[in-house]
Amino acid sequence: MPRIIEEPDLVSCEYAAKIGWPSTFRLGAPICTDCDRSRCRFHSVPSDAASTLKHRAVIKRTVHNRVQPTRIRFNDPMVQPRELTTREGLSRFPSSSLRPYQKVTVERIVEAFNSGKKCVVLTAPTGFGKSYVNTSFTSVTRSFYATPQLALIDQMLRDQSLKGRFVEIKGRRNYPCYHIPHRSVHLGKCVTEQYDCKERFEVCPYWKQKRKAAEAPSVLLSFAYLVAEGQTEGHSESYLGTRNLLVLDEAHNIEEECLNHISVNITPFTIPHEAYSKALPVLRKVRTEEQLKELLADVEASLKTQLEQVRKITETTGLSVMQAEDLERIGRYLETYGLYKSSKSEWVWQTRGDQLFVQPLFAREFMKELIWKRAEHYIISSATILNPQEYVELTGLLDVLKEDEISILPQVPSTFPVENRPVIDRTVGPLSRAGWEENMPKAVRAVEEILREETGNVAIHCHSYDNQETLVNNLSEDLRQRLIVHTRRDREERLREWMQSRGKVFVSVAFNEGQDWKYDVCDAQILLKVPFPDLGDKRVKRRLEMGRQQWYDNQALLEVIQAYGRAVRAEDDKARFYVIDGSFQRLVGKCWKFVPDWFKEALPASFVPGSQTRET
Ligand code: SF4
Repeated sequence: MPRIIEEPDLVSCEYAAKIGWPSTFRLGAPICTDCDRSRCRFHSVPSDAASTLKHRAVIKRTVHNRVQPTRIRFNDPMVQPRELTTREGLSRFPSSSLRPYQKVTVERIVEAFNSGKKCVVLTAPTGFGKSYVNTSFTSVTRSFYATPQLALIDQMLRDQSLKGRFVEIKGRRNYPCYHIPHRSVHLGKCVTEQYDCKERFEVCPYWKQKRKAAEAPSVLLSFAYLVAEGQTEGHSESYLGTRNLLVLDEAHNIEEECLNHISVNITPFTIPHEAYSKALPVLRKVRTEEQLKELLADVEASLKTQLEQVRKITETTGLSVMQAEDLERIGRYLETYGLYKSSKSEWVWQTRGDQLFVQPLFAREFMKELIWKRAEHYIISSATILNPQEYVELTGLLDVLKEDEISILPQVPSTFPVENRPVIDRTVGPLSRAGWEENMPKAVRAVEEILREETGNVAIHCHSYDNQETLVNNLSEDLRQRLIVHTRRDREERLREWMQSRGKVFVSVAFNEGQDWKYDVCDAQILLKVPFPDLGDKRVKRRLEMGRQQWYDNQALLEVIQAYGRAVRAEDDKARFYVIDGSFQRLVGKCWKFVPDWFKEALPASFVPGSQTRET
């Protein structure tokens, strides 16, 4: 049986107990003398008990909570989330020791489900160990564990403590065809030669894995796979079905994921070349809703004709790889176009270059079908769900659950010492469109100064390729030798090169999420430009017209906080985060009530609203 070892001679912190965090520690535990009282939530009450209780001592106590993890077997009894006990939750915890706040978070989630909640929103910073807490729950009930990136799936599969907890499934492109091994399954013999692969569950790496996943109590998969599979119900023999629990990890972007999935795109990459070439002259002239509808109807007709032709070829000579890829594109396009035609919501359309994008303004109409119907209970976890109330509205959760069925847990504090992760003000004035010309030369000089101080590995977040180009072209010659600059085509190669080097500067665009730049991979980051959503995007513009200014600001702040979290990945890891764009100060002011406490405590006084102080 799992056992919680209690330490003798424990004393409690009244304040911590009051706010519900771990509140006891061993008598005589070392006192933290370097804790900044003004920032420590455990010290900020004027009571005798609290004045002697030290933050680190509380952490130390939590680390002493040891549980005996049970080895999970797939035939272990499964329970419904609402029937769970804390003991069961903790007994499936993947590690023998708990990090600070993990035990109380498990307790809170159990309590929420026990009291009839269907959804728990967990906001916790890097280092808290969300995946272990989440896994405690996916291991006791039939479940899905979904992450935004395949890299995160691989990271979890490499973790020895999570071994045996999931069966993972990825898209067909990730598995080779047994009969034609140099091709992936989406272009396998069954697709190109219409080969009736009756033995697929015995030989095909994808179908074997899919069957394993269908039978497994807990399935690890990407958001994209979950969403795509959500559309195949009824016409897939191996549908993974619905489960008791769905965990969405790093869930802050789930609405965007769904929007991208249901976007009707006329581009050279989304429909076959022939149909695209035919549509292009009309596409260039589309100005009105009527013209748009006409164009979309023409493309549909043209694709259906092509589909018929491809089917005939399949029956006679078989398909070339290109034809098989066309077939896949046609299928995907017609599926999303079907959603567009039957939708009751507002959609926005826009052309960029010679490409047309038609997207719903909000994804919530579709999220029930694509995501929420896959489970009865949900754990939504992320470091940056800044406004949970807006999140549950925009993702359509309020359309499937009542408000009182959703539990928003208190934000988990960071256990990383704040002095290891300072935000440093080097702002030069706003780099908005209006201030760009005046302030960009100053920004370049500020970056030069920082690079002369920071001799280790540095990442610069430029936000756009235009900013990247301007910066690189204007930096002084001696510093240019340290730069590693990527283009749209060699992003991953250049990233790898930088991560393996020392003393280099990675001049990056859109690398603020999903990166693990721990220890000397990254010693400092520079936020050149605040990544505000693109005002040229009609969807953004339309949302602003509807009064969603706070959503717009929160999106920008979310991206900044995500970038901030790339470089300090452990309690003894250190990195500085320099801010150059003067828009940041105003942004923080506008979003102050949504800023997580662990980020607030890293900000200099000059970024705190109402403060006149400014670092030099
Ligand atoms: S199902 Fe058979 S033919 Fe199709 S990709 Fe898999 S192994 Fe190849």
